[in-house]
Amino acid sequence: MVSVMIVEDETAIRELLSFICEKENWRTVKAGSLDEAGRLIRQTKPDLILLDVMLPDGSGFDWLNRLKRDETSRDYPVIMLTARGDEIDRVEGLESGADDYVVKPFLPRELIARIRAVLRRNKVTALLNEIPDEEAGRIVRGPLVLDEARFEATVNGEPLKLSVKEFRLLHLFAKHPGRVLSRSQVLNAVWGNQIVDVRTVDVHMLRLRKALSGTAAENLLETVRGVGYRFRYEEK
Ligand code: CA
Repeated sequence: MVSVMIVEDETAIRELLSFICEKENWRTVKAGSLDEAGRLIRQTKPDLILLDVMLPDGSGFDWLNRLKRDETSRDYPVIMLTARGDEIDRVEGLESGADDYVVKPFLPRELIARIRAVLRRNKVTALLNEIPDEEAGRIVRGPLVLDEARFEATVNGEPLKLSVKEFRLLHLFAKHPGRVLSRSQVLNAVWGNQIVDVRTVDVHMLRLRKALSGTAAENLLETVRGVGYRFRYEEK
């Protein structure tokens, strides 16, 4: 059962959020302050956190920041509940580490859709990060061979010069041929929940393409406009 932690000091809003979530058959954990949220998160390990910005004992943004810096809590998906334009600006500034935001007052339907999307995205991420042992060895895609144990990539037997991040990027795409991966999926899979800008993905993709250019593998990675990237390869 999905469990959602609600961190909101206004009782009416907290109860409304809880009501909306429980109608979806989700379990809810309610906190009226950051202090309470801190205690409950360890006890209940929620699947997702709805976080207000102004709490009686501090700012939701600062708390989120601490959450994302701590290895034991950085993987919790967080949706910020914002009220004003400037709060949205802050949450949109990618440094906040929130997975999404919902503006108050919100429509129940919209809130549920956002929660579902974030949960789905995080499940995908977990899938992407999981590399079964039997597949951990070698990936062969036409001229390209990736040896994960050695962090080695070759094209027609010629080694490519790749950084660890570039190798992991290439490995991620090669593992999912034909599948479009969004920048945030790539970011989550390769960088984990480190606080980095999604543009970092573009920078590394550019370097990776540079490393592949002039080889038989140079056209394997394609940009899917407005969506992300795809490894273009069909099993024969
Ligand atoms: Ca508040």
